[in-house]
Amino acid sequence: MSDAARDLVRYGAKLASKGFVAATDGNLSVRLPSGGFLVTPSGVPKSELRATLLASLDGEGRPLSGKVSSEWPMHLAIYRARPDAGAVVHAHPPFATALACAGLSMDRPFLSEAVISLGTVPLVPFALPSTDSLAGEVAAALADHSAALMANHGAVTVGPDVRTAYYRMETLEQTARIFLYARLLGGDRPLPEAAVAQLRELGRGYGLAALPSPACDGCPVAAGEDGLFLRRGELQRMLVEFARLAARA
Ligand code: 13P
Ligand code: ZN
Repeated sequence: MSDAARDLVRYGAKLASKGFVAATDGNLSVRLPSGGFLVTPSGVPKSELRATLLASLDGEGRPLSGKVSSEWPMHLAIYRARPDAGAVVHAHPPFATALACAGLSMDRPFLSEAVISLGTVPLVPFALPSTDSLAGEVAAALADHSAALMANHGAVTVGPDVRTAYYRMETLEQTARIFLYARLLGGDRPLPEAAVAQLRELGRGYGLAALPSPACDGCPVAAGEDGLFLRRGELQRMLVEFARLAARA
């Protein structure tokens, strides 16, 4: 399984386990180093994804194989508007989607962490799912944002890779939840102007830390989603045994 496919399967399952999607909701895609794309299949629960079910597209976004997500036009429009985008995640997380259904955006900075790792979040006007009109509206909003709310529908995030786009969705949902609670407690108070500039500056040196590859975790000799895992001690024992048998032969 390629790294890109593994990420779509892994973070799709995470969307489902976090309750950001129900049943067949949501879709994820990734831009491949070759110039093509992989996207999740239409109608498959994100908890049941497998690499073999992923759909692939060429560099122009034309389907090559698999049952392409119905929201692919939106993903493609985002990739065209954002040449720096490596991945797109679309989900229906309940707090963010509730704001989108109430016609609320989060376009004023009010939460420190959100300024650092997400930025403000515009609300895209309603358009029918899977249409070019939705694709155009969302791509325009994401030209200068990392996340957007889709009126009466859900949310979408973009990132350099699937992991970042996924965690932006997590931050978006947490921010939406805090926004709602703050409103229930009398209203969110805007951050001071000077603090917003400082937080943005801070955000430049911020970001998701890269993880060591699984091959380094606990020092297994071989690691991979489909691979055989051997710890150093196990391999040493096998080599010693092999040498002993070879000496006897
Ligand atoms: P797909 O199953 O076609 O990806 O659609 C899910 C969705 O969320 C539509 O907006
Ligand atoms: Zn949707």
